[in-house]
Amino acid sequence: MENTKKMRTWLDDLNLDHPLVIAGPCSAETEEQVLKIAHELKDTDVSYFRAGIWKPRTRPGNFEGVGALGLKWLQKVKEETGMKVCTEVANAAHVKLALEHDIDLLWIGARSTVSPFIMQEIADALQGTDKPVLIKNPVNPDLSLWLGGIERIYSSGVKNIGAIHRGFSTYEKTKYRNIPEWQLAIEFQNRFPDIPLINDPSHITGKRDMVFDVCQTALDLNFDGLMIETHYDPDNAWSDAAQQVTPASLVQIMKDLKIRKENNEEEEYNSALDNLRAQIDVIDNQVIGLIGKRMKASDSIGALKKQKNVSVLQSKRWNEILGRMVLEGQEHGLSEEFILRMFKAVHQESINHQEKVIKG
Ligand code: PEP
Ligand code: MN
Repeated sequence: MENTKKMRTWLDDLNLDHPLVIAGPCSAETEEQVLKIAHELKDTDVSYFRAGIWKPRTRPGNFEGVGALGLKWLQKVKEETGMKVCTEVANAAHVKLALEHDIDLLWIGARSTVSPFIMQEIADALQGTDKPVLIKNPVNPDLSLWLGGIERIYSSGVKNIGAIHRGFSTYEKTKYRNIPEWQLAIEFQNRFPDIPLINDPSHITGKRDMVFDVCQTALDLNFDGLMIETHYDPDNAWSDAAQQVTPASLVQIMKDLKIRKENNEEEEYNSALDNLRAQIDVIDNQVIGLIGKRMKASDSIGALKKQKNVSVLQSKRWNEILGRMVLEGQEHGLSEEFILRMFKAVHQESINHQEKVIKG
């Protein structure tokens, strides 16, 4: 795939004609499990085989990874399949061991990116390595924290850098395990157009049947690659069982994804159009979500008015809102006519909601 990045990166050196694919189990469990999955992924689009050996678990008492022993299994994967291998590092000791065992690429997990202390420790241990290092977004939706982590790694002389978007945790239950907040990934690309950006649909969705859709959105938003957790027996995996796909499903996903090759004018036009449309879809979903929230607040006002026996329509307050929104709209290049029409519709919906509450 011709890269849209301006600078040449470690990713271009792979000379792929498709997005980068990193796949393998959430955790290395046994030597047999690691090798069996690796052999099933050998002749596919997968460039890097992944397996976590030090596992950051939310609660203690769960499987916490096989530890340094797993590095030997990854070396065996390399020897037997020719695939490159990668694992997560979460402190200086992990980095030292991974580099000693010639692991080809290291990634830093979401729970590490949140801590500037641990990022600095990892950065110091990585000093000057030419292995690619990928930094996952922090668990909380804080772009500066993500960029700060990347800066720490870059400042210690690591030139081959990439980022992984794995979604963000929320208190509210959603259909995602970690909500994508795509606008943050779009903002990331605007700020750092030359850093390869990989999507991790496994940790975003938490469910294997949602993985394909998230992959497609990521590619439409110009992501450079995918990291997909893969296991021959996902249901019996020792960690993240619900989200892993089989090697055969991974192959099918890659076959079904619309992957654009930007090698002629028509393709370039289509690709730019799809990218912008994907951005619009993300924003439209946010608009609907926000209007929904506004109506919930309105329902609560309805309940208060009912208690106090106050009328639904309060013209003074409404005229104030309209005036403020017309000015706000001007700042965003929106015409007065549009603002008035849009807010009248919003207001009408709000009144309908409140009346339902009051009569209910
Ligand atoms: C993982 O990749 O298995 C992992 C632990 O991911 P994250 O850091 O995104 O939770
Ligand atoms: Mn996992």
